[in-house]
Amino acid sequence: MKPLSGKQLSTQRVVMLVDLDYFFAQCEEARNPSLKNKPLVVCVYSGRSGESGVVSTANYEARRHGVKSGIPISLAKKRLANVDAVFLPVDHEYYNRVSEEVMSILRRHADVFEQAGVDEAYLDVSGRVEGDFDRAVELARMMKEEVRRSKGLTCSIGIGPNKLVAKIAADFQKPDGLTVVKPEEVQGFLSPLPVNRLIGVGVKTQSLMESLGIKTIGDLARYDVKKLVEVFGEKLGVYFHNASLGIDNQPVKERGEASSISRISTLKKDSRDPEAVLDKTGELCEEIHSELSRRGLKARQVGIIVVASDMSVHSRSKTLEHATSDPEALKKNVRELFEKFLRETGLEARRVGVRVSGFVKEEGQKQLRAFIAG
Ligand SMILES: [Mg+2]
Repeated sequence: MKPLSGKQLSTQRVVMLVDLDYFFAQCEEARNPSLKNKPLVVCVYSGRSGESGVVSTANYEARRHGVKSGIPISLAKKRLANVDAVFLPVDHEYYNRVSEEVMSILRRHADVFEQAGVDEAYLDVSGRVEGDFDRAVELARMMKEEVRRSKGLTCSIGIGPNKLVAKIAADFQKPDGLTVVKPEEVQGFLSPLPVNRLIGVGVKTQSLMESLGIKTIGDLARYDVKKLVEVFGEKLGVYFHNASLGIDNQPVKERGEASSISRISTLKKDSRDPEAVLDKTGELCEEIHSELSRRGLKARQVGIIVVASDMSVHSRSKTLEHATSDPEALKKNVRELFEKFLRETGLEARRVGVRVSGFVKEEGQKQLRAFIAG
């Protein structure tokens, strides 16, 4: 790592928002590529009957038929009655695993990393691109390629001088978009957009603003700030005014560490041969060891994940007496868990994974992180 010089600390801020496209549905497509060209609807079933519940996420094919997040499943079925559509229940365990894997890729490319949801993260990259937006675009292209190659997923990235602009830029072009807004372009970019693109402008606020003659962010920017304060109060009025000018000083902040790290991989062929399994998990333990060392962490819990040949998912874990990041200690515990799992079940493994959690900081790392984040 390069030492931080005075020059780097004072460079232009460059912030990215990376947003995974139609995430839950895209995860299902990645797991089963034959779904890709069909309308695909991921559902939260309420469990009362086959049709009660709401749509969680729809892919773009389904959206073309008017299916979107939040509508009842029964309505989605009606709209897709005459097409070959697929309805699947949400599988949060799987999406969380995919999310963790993608986030650990993204994290490597940030000076400061802030996960903002299961499918989105802010990256402050000011230092590593030395305030240069063209270099940030190169970095974003490389990250998109890495996520596509290793996870089969597309994402949309917005780049701007702060979080507010980065977020709106990421929403500007979807899916698989890349939108960069340099500081001198902020006004021109925001001005024609509808006010509801700003965080905090919901349906009610939007109609209130419309009654004041404010339709676009540009209208809002030209509106007298004193009048905004009269209508919306001091705090909100000032926020709307600043936001309309693309002003946002909120730092990108680490939100504590992710609560677990996992790696999962497919075996060459389905197997219950301990050597074949442990060969693969040995590699995964090495990867987890590197990630733990990079982040200055030790883990208290070690677990295994098995996707069996019938696609059922199983996990086992144990708590260690002492937290560790040592690859040999990880391998030894993973070996014990697998041997026990294979003895207890008659299953053949198709994919195997290793997961660690219960993190403890290694001494001496905290200060460094605080310094970089500061
Ligand atoms: Mg998303």
